[in-house]
Amino acid sequence: MKSFLVIGLGRFGRSCARELCDLGYDVLGVDQNLKLVNEAATYLTHTVQADATDEDFLKSISIKDFDACVVAIGNNQETSVMITVLLKEHGARTIVSKAQSDLHAKILKKLGADKIILPEYDMGVKLAHTLCNTNIYDLIDISPEHSIMSIKPPKEWAGKSLGELSARDKYGVNIIAIESDEKEANVFPTASTVINPNDTLLVIGGNENLNRLQSM
Ligand code: ATP
Repeated sequence: MKSFLVIGLGRFGRSCARELCDLGYDVLGVDQNLKLVNEAATYLTHTVQADATDEDFLKSISIKDFDACVVAIGNNQETSVMITVLLKEHGARTIVSKAQSDLHAKILKKLGADKIILPEYDMGVKLAHTLCNTNIYDLIDISPEHSIMSIKPPKEWAGKSLGELSARDKYGVNIIAIESDEKEANVFPTASTVINPNDTLLVIGGNENLNRLQSM
């Protein structure tokens, strides 16, 4: 089973840790604030009160065994930078760090964070997409250039099979799943699967191609 380390149990860290736990994963939540740790102990698999800049503590929890480590500390940039560096030094496989500003994000990236979250910025971008494209349900960034989008099919796609549509050749995107009204999601659509106007499509591709799709 995958296991995750979440350092910092503020609003962001707690919601991430709790959701991971609800999804059935093993989560160790760490905070130096005992009140937050005790509160989190009611819903997390494991919790520890500790200062995550303490190298002896980091050694004791075997950082390299976690599938991913989340540094959920935004306000204290020096601490977030220190913890990101220490996690890297202690063999963290994947580090996701929360940033407070573009400069903070740049520094974290240079220091080896694999993914940077700028919560307010990221949510703002997501909201803008949702507001101007009512047919977009969700947008997941998988790299700076690629995303997965959940959309209603453009009108001209309705009634066509995936084979006829040739979305990869014509639009530069792959349709990876189709959810129809009355059925469960079809996660293995084939060339003969026909798109209905009320379907919701899960589409993966380069951001430019996805943007083009949105404006159709
Ligand atoms: P929020 O997610 O609530 O917006 P934030 O981004 O403002 O939080 P902070 O409040 O600075 O971030 O820190 C989040 C949590 O990290 C706090 O609960 C704090 O106690 C904890 N924290 C800060 N420094 C350390 C540390 N060295 N070791 C462990 N936990 C720490």
